[in-house]
Amino acid sequence: MVVSLVLTAGCKGPRLLSREDEIKLGREAGDDFEREQGLDTDPRTVELVRDIGKKIAQAAVPPEYPYDFRVLRGKDVNAVAFPGGRIYAWRGLVELFDYDPHMIAWVLGHEASHVSQRHATRRLEKSLGFEALVALAFRKSGAQQVAALVANLVMQDYGRDQEYEADRWGCKYAYDAGYDPSAAVAVLRKFQELQKREPSKVELLFATHPGNNDRINAVERYLKEQGWSGQYWKP
Ligand SMILES: [Zn+2]
Repeated sequence: MVVSLVLTAGCKGPRLLSREDEIKLGREAGDDFEREQGLDTDPRTVELVRDIGKKIAQAAVPPEYPYDFRVLRGKDVNAVAFPGGRIYAWRGLVELFDYDPHMIAWVLGHEASHVSQRHATRRLEKSLGFEALVALAFRKSGAQQVAALVANLVMQDYGRDQEYEADRWGCKYAYDAGYDPSAAVAVLRKFQELQKREPSKVELLFATHPGNNDRINAVERYLKEQGWSGQYWKP
């Protein structure tokens, strides 16, 4: 794996990984991850997620990354984004929403923004540090180890600020792609209900995302500011 070092100072901090490396790293880590987790083979879920993802990628997200939406066969209720555009939803998430495209669109939009805002990549850069990136650039480190590290990082919490930011982007991306952004409220309420009913099912989700009333309130505030109401929520 060749990692070239591109240092460009910006408002979001220095960029250590080039876009190409970011995409390559994310793909390699995603390939390992899906081999471990197992891909869903049911065309209903696979095509639904792919089609909604495609609309979001085309209509909403800046075209900087090749977005690629896939479904894992597990019953977990969760979704993750790898650097560079690979995004996974678990089958359990799609089933919890009863295949509702608007709810799925908001979650995929939320995840897509972790890519477009480089949340995952910035964490990787921070965690790897400059020396490790230099080692990578000179092929001193195994690709396998790096893939495992990336997979480990995307499964961790991004922190409150980035999650709230992703919640707002999720609404915007869903809206721009022609979906009802008020579905965000329905999704967060569903997560809350599930946490009370079957906490084990959302263990993974709440390890990666905050799940609380504050988050619902923040989304409602944002929808109100934008003047977006819909079939799932009205001010
Ligand atoms: Zn998130």
